[in-house]
Amino acid sequence: MEREYHVCTGCALLCDDIELREEENKTIIDSACRKGVAWIKNCQHPLECTVDAKDATPQDAIEKAAEILKNAKKPLIFGMGNSSLKAQEKAIELAKKTNACIDDTSSFCQGPIVEAILNDKIKSCTLDEVRDKADIIVYWGCDPSNSHPRHLSKFSYFPRGKMRQRGWEEDRTAIAIDVRKSDTAIICEDNFYQIPPKADAEFAMALTEALSGKVPKVTFGIKPKEILELANILKKAEFGVIFAGLGVVYSMHDLSPMENLLEALNKKTDFHLMPMVGQYNMRGFNHLLFDKTGYINRVSFEGENIDHGPQCSVVEVLKEKKADAALIMGSDPLSSLPGSIAANLKEIPTIVIDPCKTFTSQIADVTIPAAVTGVECKGEAIRMDGVEIELKQMKESDKMADADILEKIMEAI
Ligand code: SF4
Repeated sequence: MEREYHVCTGCALLCDDIELREEENKTIIDSACRKGVAWIKNCQHPLECTVDAKDATPQDAIEKAAEILKNAKKPLIFGMGNSSLKAQEKAIELAKKTNACIDDTSSFCQGPIVEAILNDKIKSCTLDEVRDKADIIVYWGCDPSNSHPRHLSKFSYFPRGKMRQRGWEEDRTAIAIDVRKSDTAIICEDNFYQIPPKADAEFAMALTEALSGKVPKVTFGIKPKEILELANILKKAEFGVIFAGLGVVYSMHDLSPMENLLEALNKKTDFHLMPMVGQYNMRGFNHLLFDKTGYINRVSFEGENIDHGPQCSVVEVLKEKKADAALIMGSDPLSSLPGSIAANLKEIPTIVIDPCKTFTSQIADVTIPAAVTGVECKGEAIRMDGVEIELKQMKESDKMADADILEKIMEAI
């Protein structure tokens, strides 16, 4: 019998080898990590359909959501990192139609890296290329052993690849640069470079100096000799990749030290950088908005005009109380943004579309349960390396897909 594989949407690695089987009336999920299994089994507290905290039919909730958005002068549409490409496209259409500000979590996480890749400022590659070719792998400011549990085994360090047949023991070198000895850093053994918080730019500049033949110096306890040795390992790579986590994004004022390092490396060898995207389709939203507006996030529509910049970010819009309504989709700003800023959502009519109850859904005026894409409905998404992946449905559900909910809201406006 031909085996059927599914894709896990538990993180942006989108593992495509998930199998389901029935055993003693239980569904067993094979290949997924614990995080993936928990995601596929679905939320412990499913979201209910409500209007003003009272049970409602989906039709009533959709009509109320449409009324809120229609009456708003400047709505905020936020989230979409856990939504299908189709739903993200509808959300951008809806933002245009309602003159809304639209933003996603990349606004305060991996956005700068995705933007640099889409603008060709940083050379990137695919995960399949990493598995087949990479000999030097740098985990910088990230800990995939916990955030993306199958990253090392499926793509980056442990698998045999077309050009890496001798395996990690002989064919690959893993290096960790981080502020603490993470589980990933432990795997890297002696190739762990512990730097103080906010020292990422300084360390990247020291490596760039070392690559150009100068004696590198840093203000913390890593000796010039050690930096020169690391630079030597990096420049001998046949195919190198830096996986950059939030540690890099949060500590650098801008990405230029990393761009300069990549440039210096690429004068000597073949080096790439990939953002460790968390939510399964954050990168999809960035790609779609970039295609339509030239920007990856923080956009405000005003008729035919587009405004872009920090003033259109979710943080600024909520802090400055610029929005008079909000639609939050597949995200929980009340738990991810500073409390004082997110609390402003309580003062405006808020709509939440999500499969599960969240802190934000508890203060929302309208809540609409959505099917989990890749589990309860099909769709498409863009993996952390920019590759589009088709998502199949794993189990039956009577919930609507997020794209269909947005379609119906738009029809009702
Ligand atoms: S690593 Fe991510 S995509 Fe892969 S099984 Fe685990 S949660 Fe799912």
